[in-house]
Amino acid sequence: MTTILEQGNISIHTENIFPIIKKWLYSDHEIFLRELISNAVDAIQKLRMVARSGEYSGDIDNPEIVISIDKENKTLSVSDTGIGMTADEVKKYINQVAFSSAEEFVEKYKNSTDQQIIGHFGLGFYSSFMVATKVEIDTLSYKAGSQAVHWSCDGSTQFELSDSDRTTVGTKITLTLMEEEQEYLESYRIRTLVKKYCDFLPFPIRLAGEEAPPTEEGAEPKGPEQINKQKAPWKETPSSLSQEDYLEFYRYLYPFQEEPLLWVHLNTDYPFVVNGILYFPKLKPDVDVTKGQIKLFCNQVFVSDNCEEVIPRFLMPLRGVIDSTDIPLNVSRSFLQNDRTVRRIADYIAKKVGDRLKELYRDDRTQYIRGWQDLGTFVKFGSMNDDKFKKQVEDILIFRTTADLNAPKAEAPAVEVQSAEGDVWQEVGNPNEQSNVLEGKSYTTIKEYLERNKERHENRVYYCTDEASQATYVELHKSQGLEVLFMDSFIDSHFISFLEREYSDVKFSRVDSDLDETLIDKEKESEIVDPSTNKTRSELIKELFEQSLNKPKLTIRTEALKSENAEAAPPAMVLLPEALRRMQEMTAMLSQQAVTFPEEHTLLVNISHPLIQNLVSISQGSIIQSGGQSPSAELANLICHHVYDLALMAQKGFDADGMKAFVERSNQVLTRLTAK
Ligand code: ADP
Repeated sequence: MTTILEQGNISIHTENIFPIIKKWLYSDHEIFLRELISNAVDAIQKLRMVARSGEYSGDIDNPEIVISIDKENKTLSVSDTGIGMTADEVKKYINQVAFSSAEEFVEKYKNSTDQQIIGHFGLGFYSSFMVATKVEIDTLSYKAGSQAVHWSCDGSTQFELSDSDRTTVGTKITLTLMEEEQEYLESYRIRTLVKKYCDFLPFPIRLAGEEAPPTEEGAEPKGPEQINKQKAPWKETPSSLSQEDYLEFYRYLYPFQEEPLLWVHLNTDYPFVVNGILYFPKLKPDVDVTKGQIKLFCNQVFVSDNCEEVIPRFLMPLRGVIDSTDIPLNVSRSFLQNDRTVRRIADYIAKKVGDRLKELYRDDRTQYIRGWQDLGTFVKFGSMNDDKFKKQVEDILIFRTTADLNAPKAEAPAVEVQSAEGDVWQEVGNPNEQSNVLEGKSYTTIKEYLERNKERHENRVYYCTDEASQATYVELHKSQGLEVLFMDSFIDSHFISFLEREYSDVKFSRVDSDLDETLIDKEKESEIVDPSTNKTRSELIKELFEQSLNKPKLTIRTEALKSENAEAAPPAMVLLPEALRRMQEMTAMLSQQAVTFPEEHTLLVNISHPLIQNLVSISQGSIIQSGGQSPSAELANLICHHVYDLALMAQKGFDADGMKAFVERSNQVLTRLTAK
């Protein structure tokens, strides 16, 4: 029989503290387990500290936390091999500290309407009363000569303290669960909770009653199975982790996902404590940039599945872990956003991410370019959202280009190099310079582009948004030595507008919006080909196409395109004026419809192309024959349509009807050709 040493009243001023807490944290009862396990971890750490200082010489090498379920008695217990408490300490820490901090918590929040308290931290030991009708403590302090004590409280302000027969140093907290909280007697529930909140706590957490599977056949079972991972890689020093360690951790956090492209290990103690590992995942075009995927921890204890307030918005698609004791948790989310430290932490994270990207650009350009499709989205999104970040990354923001940057530099300066031994030799170029070419494709920054093309076309950038449908145009520019940038990622349509604001003197033109003067051979334009009417070839062709196609919204423009070989440039191409096209894209975006091909466009007919020149002869033949639709007039008409179709097709400007008509007409053309 145990003798009751003491009975007493817990000095607490808010009489109705229990109902308030119950109501307050209604949906979050499960956090009691996190709180108890955190206390157990603290207790183990404290024992290690006293052992290190020589005040304790007992065993500290096998720390563990054991959770036991007793379905019959409806109890759940958490026991630790920590520091333990003396009777005086129980009175002080439990009766006074734990209860008064709970009281303080309630005082602070009882009138608050903001239910989004981020972590519900601070309730500690007291949160057990959310799920238990009775809480008992069995504890033996590490202090020599201590007597083990038993404390119990039924949720009123009454407690009881007596001797306990516990013989090992440490503490066991036993909860007799309320009727409606029996779910915590299910081992799967406990496992899930430990995984969620305590997976990365630094000591083994075991679940009693569940035998660990034997490691080898016939081997003895090893006792209660460990149910937490225990290792928190973000707390290790970056140099102690291998590439594979980082990847393994990613796979653990995000199973069945594609490997990340890159990661950043955050590790700082001053002026705030932040640890973490952030990964750049491969992005899907439908990535939801408003939904965070980074897990927030406080001292390795899981707090929340997103930390939108702590992470700059543009880094939201990153994944991984942030752990900081400097992020206030017992505050509302809106408070958090305006907290000075939190804002500085967010800046710090953005800076580290920028540094990491710059480092990769500098040291491993190939890897940088390889990941650019995805990294670029962050960089562009970040540049648009954060001025400081923009400044950090503007020199590493690259685009694929039609320029061949593989070509040897005309005058690579010879550098005189002197070795430690005093030998001097000449070296051409910068040996550390990284190649901007990957798999035959070259990449450049806008600044480099403008510099390179300063003489040809100052302050003008030619770009292409879809390689397939703009291939003809890109080819034409390329053949005349005009450099084209590919701005074809899903974020680029927004990014181009941003670049235009940034580089306000620079004009950005899509390759199919208009033709640069240098692509046109002005001399050929005025050549008179029909002495009877005094008309230039250009005029004749324009008339012919206008009459044949007869579309009010279509403008026909005739030009002689320059090219080394007349057949190399296309016979015709469709042009979409830049402003008009953008307006249409904007309208489509606002009404959330797909962009359709604009009716209003220009058909540019290349009068230098032999096909077009032949067409003039055919139609002239028809004039001579005259009188009704001659066979050659009909052929000329067919060819005009066909040339237009091909130009549209190159631009992917066909709708279903257009495609049908094109196929029919092609068959007619072939029939005409075979009819001799
Ligand atoms: P906190 O952990 O935030 O201090 P708690 O209410 O959870 O608040 O606990 C109050 C105090 O009780 C702790 O500071 C600690 O001194 C003591 N305590 C709680 N649990 C344990 C335990 N398992 N072992 C030793 N001491 C404990």
